[in-house]
Amino acid sequence: MIYKRSSALFTDAKKVIPGGVNSPVRAFKAVGGDPVFVKRAAGAYLYDEDDNQLIDYINSWGPLILGHAHKPVVDAVVEKARMGTSFGTPTEIETRIAELAVKMVPNIDKIRMVNSGTEACMSAVRLARGFTGKDKIIKFAGCYHGHSDSFLIQAGSGAVTFGSPNSPGVTQGTAKDTLLANFNDLENVKELVEANKEEIACIILEPVAGNMGCIPPAEGFLKGLRKLCDETGILLVFDEVMTGFRLAAGGVQQRENVVADIVCFGKVIGGGLPVGAFAARNEIMDHLAPIGPVYQAGTLSGNPLAMAAGLAMLTELDSNPEIFKSIDKKTAYLHEGMEKVLKQNEIDFTINRYGSMISVHFGLDAVTDFASAAKSANLGTFNKFFHGMLENGIYIAPSAYETWFISDALSYEDLDRTIEVVDKVAKTL
Ligand code: PMP
Repeated sequence: MIYKRSSALFTDAKKVIPGGVNSPVRAFKAVGGDPVFVKRAAGAYLYDEDDNQLIDYINSWGPLILGHAHKPVVDAVVEKARMGTSFGTPTEIETRIAELAVKMVPNIDKIRMVNSGTEACMSAVRLARGFTGKDKIIKFAGCYHGHSDSFLIQAGSGAVTFGSPNSPGVTQGTAKDTLLANFNDLENVKELVEANKEEIACIILEPVAGNMGCIPPAEGFLKGLRKLCDETGILLVFDEVMTGFRLAAGGVQQRENVVADIVCFGKVIGGGLPVGAFAARNEIMDHLAPIGPVYQAGTLSGNPLAMAAGLAMLTELDSNPEIFKSIDKKTAYLHEGMEKVLKQNEIDFTINRYGSMISVHFGLDAVTDFASAAKSANLGTFNKFFHGMLENGIYIAPSAYETWFISDALSYEDLDRTIEVVDKVAKTL
């Protein structure tokens, strides 16, 4: 495939945008080469500036669960835009999407809209601190909760790829309040809690991790955290930015039958527009301004266009729960197909999957936490794999630490084509 115009646009971009991108992982720094500039997209496909058609397994990093330019979402946004783009006043649609989210998600009474996943997680932690009166938080190595200071301590996603697990600009004072645990290691969390008795406000995690590849929770891990939090008065915060409204209508809470005290959302809840949200029971949410003392705000929060996209998306997911089954089935089909051809080509690999999130890791060791994800990523095979896929029109995330997001717009023909390409690329690894 030819990427001439993309490369020229990247050269222009680098002159006026740091690294040519507005979010680091887009720059292809981990895998090398120039990023693809996209002109438009429809359903399962991206069309780039060189008019290549690519089958998309990123889907805007998760939000586009029904594919690109999904008509009900686009129509809702266009209709709203004609009525004005932002008022800075309450609007009815904010209540309607909140009602729907509260109905779909277990154990929440109220939800507050923000503009990104970062804001959602940052605000959730402030709320947890305000509610408990404690300062420290526990996060897991390899989990990514956005780029707010407290989370840039061994974060996953682009923060790993770029080798800046402790970013300059994050103060020692902030870093000391973030305690790090190993994902899927309950004993490790218990030790941290024991060593910091009465000091911990919350434990925050991606209940199915998606920022070190896809890493499902080990049997008993989430229930163990829930029990530990109940025994110690620590709040359990599920960052369902990736998993919310994707793995089930009620996210991981529903699928794993474990409730969190605060839940963070992003991605699907905004239907592809900038939306994040955090939610909890009344006793916690009523600590927020304007009724409570914990301050949190946003000029564009609850923006009508963003709410219209989100409401259209959630309405469709709520009225047709078969969508969740359909994307899981498609992902399982892809899983089986890739497994078969990688085996036939005698490649050492591990595929991790949970519902419609999937990642391919090279090497034979199980990938269950950040250390094992890093070991596999360091083998370098992924980068060759990535470029082979791209050359053949398959767009996967440009980093070994990312999950793939399957959309319901993908047809079985698209999946078969993808498996064929995996077979072809495997012969070159
Ligand atoms: N939490 C998780 C689990 C995420 O995957 C992300 C982004 N990939 C974030 C938080 C941050 O969201 P945003 O990029 O919208 O700030």
